[in-house]
Amino acid sequence: MERIEPNSWLGLMGGGQLGRMFSISAQQLGYKVMVIDPNQSAPAISVANFHLCSDYSDKSALNQLAKRCKAVTTEFENVPAESLDFLSREVIVSPSYQAVQICQDRILEKNFIKNRGFKTTPFKVIDSYDDFPDQDIDGGFFPGFLKVSRFGYDGKGQVKVSDVVGLKKAFEKFGRCPCVLEKELKLEKEISVILARGEEGNVVIYPIAENTHKNGILDFSVIPADISAEISDEAKQIAVDIAKNLQYVGVLCVEFFLHKQQGLLVNELAPRPHNSGHFTLNACVVSQFEQQVRTLCKLPLGQTTITSPSAVMVNLLGHLWENGDPNWSDLLSNGNTSLHLYGKEKAVKGRKMGHYTVLGGSSGVTKELAFRLKKSLSV
Ligand code: ADP
Ligand code: MG
Repeated sequence: MERIEPNSWLGLMGGGQLGRMFSISAQQLGYKVMVIDPNQSAPAISVANFHLCSDYSDKSALNQLAKRCKAVTTEFENVPAESLDFLSREVIVSPSYQAVQICQDRILEKNFIKNRGFKTTPFKVIDSYDDFPDQDIDGGFFPGFLKVSRFGYDGKGQVKVSDVVGLKKAFEKFGRCPCVLEKELKLEKEISVILARGEEGNVVIYPIAENTHKNGILDFSVIPADISAEISDEAKQIAVDIAKNLQYVGVLCVEFFLHKQQGLLVNELAPRPHNSGHFTLNACVVSQFEQQVRTLCKLPLGQTTITSPSAVMVNLLGHLWENGDPNWSDLLSNGNTSLHLYGKEKAVKGRKMGHYTVLGGSSGVTKELAFRLKKSLSV
């Protein structure tokens, strides 16, 4: 397929922080970005070259995007797959709507992972009361998490349930929408593999991140993950195989649980750059966002090697703003730290407002510095 030359317009579905960072990378390479987002003040809007303020299924906006742009990508999995399907009749779309369709629906995603022979957390699809597990027979699902099949993110759309009574309450709370019940596992670690895959099946993989979550939201990532070479190779192989199975073109993240007895389990897929890959902006020559541009435009893929022995990425959530702006002095004074703020208008508890990445020698020392800087932010 022919390369899309710089100076062309690229289309973007979604104007969140991932779209903002995509736009910056695209423009760095000389492209222009047209973004669709219904929110007038979404983080990517102030960066993109043109904003179509409309719903993701608005045909006239989609037509404008298809007409002006050479290729279209997405920054989040919750855009209607039908819109990507519609666009793909006129213009290059990557990742494909088929891949996004699977990744945006936990039931499709889990079944896909399982049916293709990859291990995942034990789960049960809950569509109605008939699907409820029997406490005595299926007791193995408790305690567990009831997760909505669609539109969940950052721990939203999931509730911990300890028995059938709790499950009923949670299912009602979610308006009896299709859900997945997952057994809660005692996790040794969480890791993620981020790769970029080109049209010819060529793949580059970033060093694996080790992720720590708080209340279902990514708190910080340490790179490289503290795992054995075997686990690292296995995780990378699984991610590559999943991408191949999806005939994937673009940047893909595979989130894994590492379990003492069961080994690596695929938790979920993200058909886009991922929060745990933000370190690539500062620690790699070519970031995950630039790889998204490169895969979209049929450019050669870039290097994924990390240029410092370790990196720690820390998320900045809304509560840090509860007493006004955080105190940036120490963080900004540290020459090995890079601050990224997403330009969001309102700081809400749990909302991702930005992140910072600390580069360093041994990961223990880098982590310590990262935590110290986090403390220094509180006012
Ligand atoms: P989201 O789409 O919100 O990222 P996830 O399924 O990845 O949803 O869940 C968010 C986090 O919640 C996980 O990264 C993990 O820390 C925790 N979690 C989710 N499911 C389980 C589980 N079955 N066992 C243990 N922890 C879990
Ligand atoms: Mg997740």
